[in-house]
Amino acid sequence: DKSVQDHLYFDSYADVSIHEEMIADSVRTDAYRLGIARNGAAIRGKAVLDVGAGTGVLSVFCAQAGARKVYAVEASSIAEQAAQIVRLNAVADRVEVIRGRLEDVELPEPVDVIVSEWMGYALLHESMLNSVLVARDRWLRPGGLMLPSRAELFVAPVSDLVLEERLRFWGSVKERYGVDMSCMTDFARRCIMNRDIAVSAVAVEDVLSHPARFAELDLHAVTEQELQNVRGTFRCDCFGSASVSALCVWFAVSFPGGGGGGGGDKPLVLSTSPFKAETHWKQAVLYLDEPVEVEQDTRVEGEIRMFPSEESARHLCIHVECAVGGLRQQSKTFSIPDGYP
Ligand code: SAH
Repeated sequence: DKSVQDHLYFDSYADVSIHEEMIADSVRTDAYRLGIARNGAAIRGKAVLDVGAGTGVLSVFCAQAGARKVYAVEASSIAEQAAQIVRLNAVADRVEVIRGRLEDVELPEPVDVIVSEWMGYALLHESMLNSVLVARDRWLRPGGLMLPSRAELFVAPVSDLVLEERLRFWGSVKERYGVDMSCMTDFARRCIMNRDIAVSAVAVEDVLSHPARFAELDLHAVTEQELQNVRGTFRCDCFGSASVSALCVWFAVSFPGGGGGGGGDKPLVLSTSPFKAETHWKQAVLYLDEPVEVEQDTRVEGEIRMFPSEESARHLCIHVECAVGGLRQQSKTFSIPDGYP
């Protein structure tokens, strides 16, 4: 049931490993550091709520940016470490670590800014954004600021040479050992090109078209209801001859410019694109049922729908319908396999 699932979920944040992975991800952590610093004018002298503070790193950034008060809410026992980190950085007078679920805590005042690092694999895995929206609707002052303030989802067709090599392997067994195993190819393809969302780093040279943005969330406005069904269409035209094995999905979130002028109004973007430096989110790879040959300008198009699984609200499902060169591929519902937080 839901509270058992929540326990397991928060327990996964009680260990050092996951925080090590996040803090060591400098693309992620620097984007928040710079995104917060850039919004210093909105933070200075103000009250901030850090939803899911973890080690407290974002709360300390906000205190360093001049926040009057930061409420660092964290449900897992890592909150004890956050309290130490806050003291070590001499901001304990302004950062209050509150151990508890955001949904259960009472704050003494509404806040001017909400900061949170809530993104999961393929953006929405873990469904932590729901808690951030509860925080916004309960505690953010009208006209207050969400950091980040926008999220976008992208897709592109990709090839997978390792997969193709693995499929060819079964055709090569006879030469090696005198036993024909070529009939394994089909079985291997069904095993590998399955319904699991594969979290892996896609190489730039395997991306077969420009990215298509298929969904966008305005974090000041999006509702929990809308998160039950995040959908959009896409259309990609392939660069050249290749074999499409999968669709690759990734996200970006952005921090508003802070109105500093001098070009400082451009939002700061934390991107998990395969064209950008790798992050711990990597990309989400969704395999077609079989590789499909494409040429220059072959169109890959369709619809993607993301929704929480019925068994476990923290578990993400992605439904894909797509056509390659006008030929409909089978529609398929993917989910994150067990073993991911
Ligand atoms: N802000 C930290 C940690 C981000 S990971 C950083 O940027 O490094 C997300 C954290 O949010 C985890 O520690 C998790 O335990 C916590 N969390 C998720 N949902 C929560 C909720 N509803 N209430 C309180 N904490 C939550």
